[in-house]
Parts: sequence; structure tokens; C-alpha cells
Amino acid sequence: MKIRVTKEFGFESSHALQGYDGLCSNIHGHSYKLFITIKGTPCEDEKSPKYGMVMDFADLKAIVRDCILDDFDHALVLQKGSSFARLLCNAETKTLFVPYRPTCENMLLDFVAKISKRLPTGVDLAEIRLHETATSFAQWVMEDNV
Ligand SMILES: [Zn+2]
Repeated sequence: MKIRVTKEFGFESSHALQGYDGLCSNIHGHSYKLFITIKGTPCEDEKSPKYGMVMDFADLKAIVRDCILDDFDHALVLQKGSSFARLLCNAETKTLFVPYRPTCENMLLDFVAKISKRLPTGVDLAEIRLHETATSFAQWVMEDNV
């Protein structure tokens, strides 16, 4: 039997969308919420410390911390080559230069690629939701992308 398991994360980031025709072209911040859902079969080996688990929540947390939170939390996220990026490339602040416009959708796709690579055999990424505000989020679902 396949089970889906979800863990919620939060991080603070600021960004600016260069060329956007609205307020988000300015540097501003969000309290992001990230929901990672994985899918797999719970461990059936009664002798394993992971018996009954699809994946240890602690292992998922370590992956997300390592490939997302350490880089994005309390960082200013800017597209490489944008005017803000050129201005702030030598600033003494935590700035992350990404090869894409840091919209909620593009950050989500970046996270999908990063997390997928790190999951153990037999565990699949089923869904990711990235909430930029309390009322706005982007969602990636495995079934939409096979
Ligand atoms: Zn924004």
C-alpha cells in the first residue's frame, strides 16, 4: 500500500522580480511555507528502526534543510544578471543569485529538482506546495508531470 507523507517547513526570504509590471518589481519579503509530500510503502521490516515509516521525518527535514533552507532562509533571492543583482553582488548580505526570475513558480520548480535528487530509492516526490503569502501558493504534482 502506498502512503503519502507530508512535512511542513517555513523560511523567510526577500526577492525582486525585475521587469514585472507591479509592486513585486521592488525588493520585498515573504514568510514562505513549504509543504513537501512524498510517496512510498511503509517499511515492513519489524527489526528496522524505521519499521512502519515511508521515510523518517528527520531524514526529510535534513534534506530540505541542506538543499533549500540553508540557502534560501533569510536570503535576498535575485536573478543573476538583473540590475539589483549587479548592484548587490558585493554587498555583505546573504544574497542568493539564481538563474531564473524568483517567482513562486520558478522557486518551486527549483525545489522539485533539488529534492527529487536526494530522496532514497523507493520514495518519490508526490507533491510540493510553496505558499508565498497566506492566500497565494504554487503547486507541483507528480501526476501532472509524467
Ligand atoms: Zn514577492
